[in-house]
Amino acid sequence: MKKLVIVLISICVPIAAFAWGQSGHRIVGELAQTQLTKKANKKITALLNSSTVAMESNWGDFIKSDDAYAEYSAWHYTNIEGGVTRQQFDSLALLQNRGALVYRVGYLIDELKANPNDTVKLKLLIHLVEDLHCPMHMGRPENRGGNSIKIRWFGKETNLHALWDEALIESQGLSYTEYADYLHRTHAAKSLLFDKKMIVDWAWGTYQITERVYAATDKTVKSYNYIYEFKSVLDESLVRGANHLASVLNDIYGK
Ligand SMILES: [Zn+2]
Repeated sequence: MKKLVIVLISICVPIAAFAWGQSGHRIVGELAQTQLTKKANKKITALLNSSTVAMESNWGDFIKSDDAYAEYSAWHYTNIEGGVTRQQFDSLALLQNRGALVYRVGYLIDELKANPNDTVKLKLLIHLVEDLHCPMHMGRPENRGGNSIKIRWFGKETNLHALWDEALIESQGLSYTEYADYLHRTHAAKSLLFDKKMIVDWAWGTYQITERVYAATDKTVKSYNYIYEFKSVLDESLVRGANHLASVLNDIYGK
């Protein structure tokens, strides 16, 4: 595979890899919970001590401040160079080391199938499936998933990664339950039978969106126009995340 081996996967500064912000994670978690089977919902609610998927969605980011969980900090992203083919993408995305998001989602599913009562792994899986659908978590290594691309957003300086993690969602001015409810009303839930091979398909889908986001970086200066152009892409990413998360959880806990 020629020079493509120029390590396409890189180290991202952990603090910058916050994924969907708190709202984004909770929106996906809230929407996913509406798509759980009765059985899966009951088991998961018990494991989460009567908390909700939404409220446990950010746990994977909160533990970054605890050294005991340091090994997980590189699991939140898989940065891959722009313009790769599907074949190249597949061989890179599943590498275990550095930027291990895609690999670790598969790993956690296997672990939970063997031991479904492991709440640490359950909460990590919820968070990482959500991250997998967050466009800048399949970003490019040379700009650390958009963290080093400075942009102006409504007159303030930020970066492309933060825009997609939080600012774009916050621009809607909705609480996470309001946003999840809106998506629930406007997007029909798809009943999806999970198969492990789908994980890399989902990652590829996110990567395609990320490529579009990079191509439109110049447009971010016109903030209102950018929201207009990308609102449906954002919604679609949140809905995909929820749908896929529900299919994984139903597969593990719904049988
Ligand atoms: Zn994360």
